[in-house]
Amino acid sequence: MTETVLTVGHFINGVEESLAANDFPSYNPATGQEIARVSSGTEKDVDRAVQSAKQAFEKWKNMSPSEKGDILRNIARRVRKDRAIFGRTDTMDAGRPISHTTYGDTEAVARLFDFFAALPEYARGATIPTSSSFLNYSVREPYGVIGAIVPWNYPMINVATKIAPILACGNTVVLKSAEQAPLAAILLAKIAVEEGLPPGVFNVVNGGPETGEALVSHPDIKKVTFTGSSIVGQKILANNSGIKSSTLELGGKTANIVFPDATMDAAVEGTLFTAFMNQGQTCTAGTRLLIHEAIQEQFLEKLLNRVKELRIGDPFDEQTQIGAVITEKQLKRIEDYIEIGKAEGATLLCGGERLHLEGFENGYFMSPTIFTDVSPDMRIAQEEIFGPILSVISFKDEEEALEIANGTRYGLATSLWTNDVKKVHDLASKFESGIVWINTVHTLSPSSGYGGYKDSGIGLEEGMEAMEQYMRLKTIWVNYGEYVGPFQNK
Ligand code: NAD
Repeated sequence: MTETVLTVGHFINGVEESLAANDFPSYNPATGQEIARVSSGTEKDVDRAVQSAKQAFEKWKNMSPSEKGDILRNIARRVRKDRAIFGRTDTMDAGRPISHTTYGDTEAVARLFDFFAALPEYARGATIPTSSSFLNYSVREPYGVIGAIVPWNYPMINVATKIAPILACGNTVVLKSAEQAPLAAILLAKIAVEEGLPPGVFNVVNGGPETGEALVSHPDIKKVTFTGSSIVGQKILANNSGIKSSTLELGGKTANIVFPDATMDAAVEGTLFTAFMNQGQTCTAGTRLLIHEAIQEQFLEKLLNRVKELRIGDPFDEQTQIGAVITEKQLKRIEDYIEIGKAEGATLLCGGERLHLEGFENGYFMSPTIFTDVSPDMRIAQEEIFGPILSVISFKDEEEALEIANGTRYGLATSLWTNDVKKVHDLASKFESGIVWINTVHTLSPSSGYGGYKDSGIGLEEGMEAMEQYMRLKTIWVNYGEYVGPFQNK
């Protein structure tokens, strides 16, 4: 089957431009076929997009809160209505299973816009008690033009997580799409304009690291919001001189901890899902299984049986549970880590190989892989691989589990399986991570703050906390009495 090659320009001032002379290919991860030629943004392109966002800012800022809310709700409705188009786009571009993209992902995107549609009317400041004859109050104001950079792992969700709160807070935005999966960003920007968003409020420039660097260092970008790896997050802080406000959502190495008093079958299902969903390409993926030594054997037997039942294959098949890895390069990185794990002395319990599936021989499929006998200091237990590799580490007691869980540079999420209420509260308060899941994994809501501790990030996205990220607080003092200056002689 030969796929039509799409052409994808930048989306600036409400218009998708034609393909630029300097472009790059985008591939379908399931087939390895080129599906699009994509314009690569230069400094000039970034500047044009920023100028368009700058011009649109006053108009957007001054629209009433209810008008802004209506547009965001329209976008949510449209995403639900066009869920099949959005689903197909992300499946083709990122190799995610069609049943996940069409239903789960589009609903997550719509809920983000619905939730943040209410924010413009709630973005209030405060009146602060002070001496008589003074009124002291605070107001929340948008930054202006925000530069947003996203990764490829959940293309439309990553874009919406940035865009919905940025717009709700009255900012305009230039978003750099992920070079490996750029289609969702353009699609969302197009429908946003069709649903009433003024041109120039939401612009998209495609490209890779250099385009991102041009965006971060542009003088008219007032704030940077970045989702991606911790190493690039550090570069971004260095590149923006630390003066621009930055929100950084970075990498992770989530510990998924199972105690003997847990409900075993539920913990097995949770472990299977957190380790292997989206081929392990999830920032909060529970890629370290910390299992109590007393139940290790029994637990792994059950887990292995469930791994064998996973349906891996054609992402366009409704029955598929696990699709393809994003690129050949990412697949190679995963294979390298498998060699690293073996060399470090870990035992390969299952997987460890690239899959060549019938009809998808050139696709980037990887078998779900489990390493046992992993010690906490091994590279496969410390470094974010971003692939379907689960490192199993055994522990003997609560204290050791806590030490191992907190023993990486990352602090994005931790999950814990136990029915002991004392352990729940004691450990939840001691985990060094921004998210803690108890007897569940990956439960999220747009109303709940999302962000990491340590090298996993700065700032929170989602929830009312997003308002702190995308608005500044101004304090105003009004003297309604007589002014008496300290230098006046009385
Ligand atoms: P990446 O850091 O390589 O790239 C992310 C984005 O940054 C891309 O758009 C890329 O073009 C751009 N970029 C790269 N170098 C840049 C530079 N010097 N200046 C500006 N922009 C630059 O990450 P990736 O491989 O695309 O995505 C995987 C990473 O994203 C993982 O580490 C994962 O944990 C993380 N992630 C985090 C979250 C979260 O919410 N914490 C969510 C999804 C993914």
